[in-house]
Amino acid sequence: MIFCVRAVLKIVVGTASAASGTKDYGFLEVSRSPAGMPIAIPVIVINGVDTGPTLVASAAMHGTEVLGTIALSRFFRDADPEQFKGTFIGAPILNTWAFEAQHRVATLQEYFGVGDLEQLFPGDERGYISDRIAYAYMNEIARRADCLLDFHGQDHLWQPTLAAIVPGTPMPEGSLKPKIYQKCLELAKVFGVEQIWRYSGPGKVTAAIMSEKDIPAINLEYGGLTDFRQIGQYVESIVAGLTNVMKWLGMIEGLIEPHGHRTVVCDLYDVKNRFGGIWSTNTEVGRSIQKEEIAGTVSDPITGVVLEEIRASLSGVITNLWASPVIRPAVGPLGIGKVVEYI
Ligand SMILES: [Zn+2]
Repeated sequence: MIFCVRAVLKIVVGTASAASGTKDYGFLEVSRSPAGMPIAIPVIVINGVDTGPTLVASAAMHGTEVLGTIALSRFFRDADPEQFKGTFIGAPILNTWAFEAQHRVATLQEYFGVGDLEQLFPGDERGYISDRIAYAYMNEIARRADCLLDFHGQDHLWQPTLAAIVPGTPMPEGSLKPKIYQKCLELAKVFGVEQIWRYSGPGKVTAAIMSEKDIPAINLEYGGLTDFRQIGQYVESIVAGLTNVMKWLGMIEGLIEPHGHRTVVCDLYDVKNRFGGIWSTNTEVGRSIQKEEIAGTVSDPITGVVLEEIRASLSGVITNLWASPVIRPAVGPLGIGKVVEYI
């Protein structure tokens, strides 16, 4: 007789503790504030009934990029651990002070300048609070991942995007192993994005984890907040994307839902604006743009005179576009993707 042994252990992250077939939430303490208050990362854990991969997802690394937070909390609420293999660990609000201040970075936390959490990985145990959040997330959560997602998204200042960022290009020009690079593209495609941006910035959690482990890890720049009527749709498509990724990883049964569009892989270029003032545009993220085509203008807020036309510096697809009527100098209101391939 063969006995089936369920080898799934209890999964503990901070104060969250989920036995096999259960879910739990809690807090991973990172540091103390000067007033003695715990500074912690809220965590959600869904532990399946059988062994399998660990999927890790974070959101609100930038405090105003909250669609991932809404989607992860909904995913946690509705998830049935009895239907899972493996483990899901989520950090729906990685940067709590930035989230509470509704600011991109944590303005209250730091004395010397403000750290952008996205540039601080793998973090520093003895650094400023943002460094410690990066360190704790990296050590206690990200390193457990077999696949890692980091949700960003456009706030109220930018047009929505349906994009993923792969932090780099394949070897030999870039730093990513070709096999892992292909896995990242596949992961983004399975999630359902329309654009994949190849972009390497310093200190990203995705780049940090992939320098240690051969796993796919992407940022998702998914949705936007400029139209409140669409927020529910974006949240639903993030939940659908997470479900597809779990099917892809073999964590839940079922066929991957197709999304019916081609995905463009591109390298990112910014076009800077010289002047601040009033921004105006008639075009959209996702459209093609030709070199020298005008994507928008900056006008004088007092006289109405056009100060500057923002023209495409190359031909490609529009990846980023400023949406707010007011613009500061050198924001870079236009992002262009130079097309590498369609997948
Ligand atoms: Zn962000």
